[in-house]
Amino acid sequence: SILSALRISDDVKTVIKQQADSVGLDCRRFGLDQVQQDQALELIISLNMHIPSELERDARSKLVIISADHNSVNWYDPVKKKSDQSNPIKFERWRRVYQCLSGSDNTVGHHAGKRRDMAWKDVGCPFWVKLTTTHHGKKADSMILTIDEVLGELTHSAECQHLTEMEINPRIPLHPEFREYAISLLEIRVPLTQLKQLCRAWAEEKWGASPGDNHFRHILSSHETTSLYRTISRKQGIPQAAPQDN
Ligand SMILES: [Zn+2]
Repeated sequence: SILSALRISDDVKTVIKQQADSVGLDCRRFGLDQVQQDQALELIISLNMHIPSELERDARSKLVIISADHNSVNWYDPVKKKSDQSNPIKFERWRRVYQCLSGSDNTVGHHAGKRRDMAWKDVGCPFWVKLTTTHHGKKADSMILTIDEVLGELTHSAECQHLTEMEINPRIPLHPEFREYAISLLEIRVPLTQLKQLCRAWAEEKWGASPGDNHFRHILSSHETTSLYRTISRKQGIPQAAPQDN
């Protein structure tokens, strides 16, 4: 069951169970028409959920996906005659379970550990949500067709709602286009000393002076410069460092 998949303490488990028993789970199903699909998307955005390859995750989001699975489903065109229905259209149905980091207990679950490297403090928040979506094709980045169902405990605890400061500063990834540009420079062996400068000029042209937002950064750190350089070197077979004294 979902409860056993959640990384929560026994106390939070009890809270979730009690809530589910007394008021029931929040379950919203959405039809295929545009109006309902718009409502579904609105709900997902208001819950600050992300969908891999569809909706970027806000680096300050409290939600993480803790499990995901999918299977293919057949769709038969109702207009076609029965005899023509041997060739159904195949879709992929995804189910993803999200949990609030402020309810996540780092001492339980698959990657249990003493060290808490989660961005938000654990205040026992019972929020969790299961999202069901239907996609074109099998790949994880295939286009989303419909949002089918949002189910779960959709309210954060009062304590969680008061919590607005992160414990660990979010690691905001480089903008993919920006990263690609940096890699393209490295591939033609632009010296590292010029790389940062060129990247800065490129980003300024594209985004102005802004260093980025909650989703992406447009500034290359020294650490990233070296790690990108290593990646490219390995690919191209360039010696990664001058040999010391062997
Ligand atoms: Zn929460």
